[in-house]
Amino acid sequence: MNSTRRNFIQSSVIGTAGLGLGIASTTEVSAANRPETVEPETSVDVEVLVVGGGTAGTIAAIQAGRAGARVLLLERNSQLGGTMTTGGVAFPGLFDAWGKQVIAGIGWELVKECVALDEGQLPDFAKVPQRHWHNQVYINQFLYAILAEEKCADAGVEIAYYEFPQSVTKLDDGWQVDCVGFGTRRRVRCQQIIDCTGGAEVVGLLGLPRLREQERQPGSFLFMLGEAHEPGRNQIHRLYVHGADSTNSRTATVANLTGRKSILQKVRQEQKRLMHLQPETGFRESYRIEGETLITVGDYTSGRVFNDAICYAFYPVDLHTKSGVKPQPLKPGKVPTIPLRALVPKGSRNLMVAGRCVSSDRLANSGLRVQASCMGMGQAAGVAAALAAKQATTPLEVPLREIHDLLRSHDAIIPGDA
Ligand SMILES: Cc1cc2nc3c(=O)[nH]c(=O)nc-3n(C[C@H](O)[C@H](O)[C@H](O)COP(=O)(O)OP(=O)(O)OC[C@H]3O[C@@H](n4cnc5c(N)ncnc54)[C@H](O)[C@@H]3O)c2cc1C
Repeated sequence: MNSTRRNFIQSSVIGTAGLGLGIASTTEVSAANRPETVEPETSVDVEVLVVGGGTAGTIAAIQAGRAGARVLLLERNSQLGGTMTTGGVAFPGLFDAWGKQVIAGIGWELVKECVALDEGQLPDFAKVPQRHWHNQVYINQFLYAILAEEKCADAGVEIAYYEFPQSVTKLDDGWQVDCVGFGTRRRVRCQQIIDCTGGAEVVGLLGLPRLREQERQPGSFLFMLGEAHEPGRNQIHRLYVHGADSTNSRTATVANLTGRKSILQKVRQEQKRLMHLQPETGFRESYRIEGETLITVGDYTSGRVFNDAICYAFYPVDLHTKSGVKPQPLKPGKVPTIPLRALVPKGSRNLMVAGRCVSSDRLANSGLRVQASCMGMGQAAGVAAALAAKQATTPLEVPLREIHDLLRSHDAIIPGDA
């Protein structure tokens, strides 16, 4: 390198550092990790395919990987975390109920590490808060997405971004799932599928029954006007997008266009700077599955302990409508549970869901859909799928005791345990 060029680079680095504009560092994709770009078709054989790397799917994949399964995690966006990161709802709850922790395991591990690395604060679960949201945990969405990738890598989970399934074919011993991404096609053979797409899209592709309300809860766009958003610290502004529909790319496009247009209007009206904007609408409600068990609002509010309960859930009944939301807190001492059979589409084998599409009526779902519960379901589905793959059977035929034991050994809390 000639000295003039070297001097120029040195002064650029010093110059930008001096102005606080840049950090002079680089990274490079290693040769071992570089996929073959000239070959547009690829195929992979795994035990567990997790579709959707959001709140529930990330945890399901890490858990299945830690349980020894070969796992592929398919995510149609560019990062993990789903509604928590891409949607910006970075305040997961609720891990506690009535003065003690009721959901732990891998989701909690990630949240805790994220808060520690970000020098944030965890709520004191020994205190029963006056308002339920006081015990939600503020996390740095950017850090969470990266930590989730690290945990997947450590668990041996392969991640495929920008890809989604186009067709799913039943085989004698599992599934063939044909996926597309841009410039690539992938054929996946797997024994078990966990559908964590939020709206049970794989279940839909298979033509299995799904439930959907005529009018759904609004979505929300998260943004910050007039003041900086400090991730993991402050509340973020929200704008309801009524009629937001995540059924397909056409309806989701309309929701995003509508939300951004309203935000532009606000900027003009309030004459404040737009300091932060999430890349897409957060969707509260779309499809739910019709599972082997359907959780009713009565089950939910009475804290029914199902005999195949795999985790707790805790949140008020929380239905957002055109006139806003009036959370209905649960009665003191009540802690709902989620049965394994609510994660299994009715009449199916080798297929589970986890997350907000859990089999439930609308009001029960308005409480069940929150992030800690989705993480609990994800972990349970990861365990059940990994065990079913090893035993060459379907999740509902794995002895429940084995599912519980493996969950406990990965720090999950099982309903009924002290
Ligand atoms: C505005 C708003 C406020 C909320 N407030 C709270 C709150 O305060 N506290 C709380 O705990 N919860 C809250 N929730 C609820 C909670 O955030 C969600 O219900 C939960 O995160 C859903 O998790 P999930 O895993 O089911 O779906 P997501 O986290 O949405 O994950 C689904 C993932 O699947 C991917 N995907 C979808 N389809 C495909 C496909 N075909 N192929 C591949 N990938 C696909 C998506 O890109 C996404 O990454 C809120 C939700 C919203 C929208």
